[in-house]
Amino acid sequence: MTDRRDQVAAGVRAVQDRIAAACAQVNRDPSDVMLLPVTKRFPASDAVLLAELGLVHLAENKDQEAGPKVQAVGELLPGVDVRWHMVGRLQRNKARSVARWASVVQSVDSPRLADALARAVDSALTAGDRNSPLDVLIQVSLDGDAQRGGCPIDEVAALADGVARKSELNLSGLMAVAPLGWPPDHAFDLLAKVFEQTRNDHPGATEMSAGMSSDLESAIAHGSTCVRVGTALLGDRPLTSP
Ligand SMILES: *Cc1c(COP(=O)(O)O)cnc(C)c1O
Repeated sequence: MTDRRDQVAAGVRAVQDRIAAACAQVNRDPSDVMLLPVTKRFPASDAVLLAELGLVHLAENKDQEAGPKVQAVGELLPGVDVRWHMVGRLQRNKARSVARWASVVQSVDSPRLADALARAVDSALTAGDRNSPLDVLIQVSLDGDAQRGGCPIDEVAALADGVARKSELNLSGLMAVAPLGWPPDHAFDLLAKVFEQTRNDHPGATEMSAGMSSDLESAIAHGSTCVRVGTALLGDRPLTSP
């Protein structure tokens, strides 16, 4: 366990150094870029180590895996306010469950999902399962490939307006994954343009979640405020969930 703690601490330092170097390249303040560890397929004990190192925003990509992990981390770290982000593709029938554990959903990509989440948040507030609205990022599909999730670029403005109208949801910004085979600079340049437009319409939408282990430098150069990092922090992902 001690060994794992050292490994995770070294991973955090290495990624923080990459973030600092990438920010220095473009004269950005590293404190404007949040490091969001993605703990999917890693055990709750790794999430605990990250939170103990001060990284109290953590991300998961599947409701089935996240629910029990969030509960386990809560029991292992009572009194620590870990904020969980959902970054994976989300089916509407999981909205109720996600509304009980997520502070932020970064993967909202359709009006129907936004409706389901707003209803789920309303129920969770009433039941006392949460005490604040849900922060939402719209996941943008940069290549329009519906298979991989995300909202097509030409539908982002309408979806942003719809999210902003719901009192249960708080439009925080946009998220994207660079499409397979695209140069990251091309992907994140395009995202930055969509982000600028969205922020013009909704000044509170200040977050641009972009960049992962392999392309965080490019994302930071294009204005990312949140890099979602798994393998560069924690090593190769186990093939199955814990
Ligand atoms: C897994 C995942 C990441 C992290 O990927 P790494 O390459 O391990 O850094 C980031 N974003 C999303 C949406 C993910 O599912």
